[in-house]
Amino acid sequence: MAQTRRVEVLDPRLHPGFTREALCLGEWSARSLSTWTVLDALRGHTVIGCGVRGCCIDPVGDRELLSVVVHALRRPQAHELRARIKRLDDLYGFTDDVFPSM
Ligand SMILES: [Zn+2]
Repeated sequence: MAQTRRVEVLDPRLHPGFTREALCLGEWSARSLSTWTVLDALRGHTVIGCGVRGCCIDPVGDRELLSVVVHALRRPQAHELRARIKRLDDLYGFTDDVFPSM
């Protein structure tokens, strides 16, 4: 947790609490939005919300930033977060090739 907090503070794209928020909001939006909508947003064909960062939920941007966090963490924290992200991807219906960097 302390390690996650350090990553969130040091990376200017993140803010303290980002990981927890992104996971909770992600799980909520995965249940509210269709997989097609999210995949379209992922391809840049549609924008979810108003497009202003930090205003509406941004499952694609958040998911990309979760990858940033997981890569900055050391094991076992990275392993733990990767499992949470995998669960989120499963909720969205993302296949492994959607975020190959994972
Ligand atoms: Zn908005």
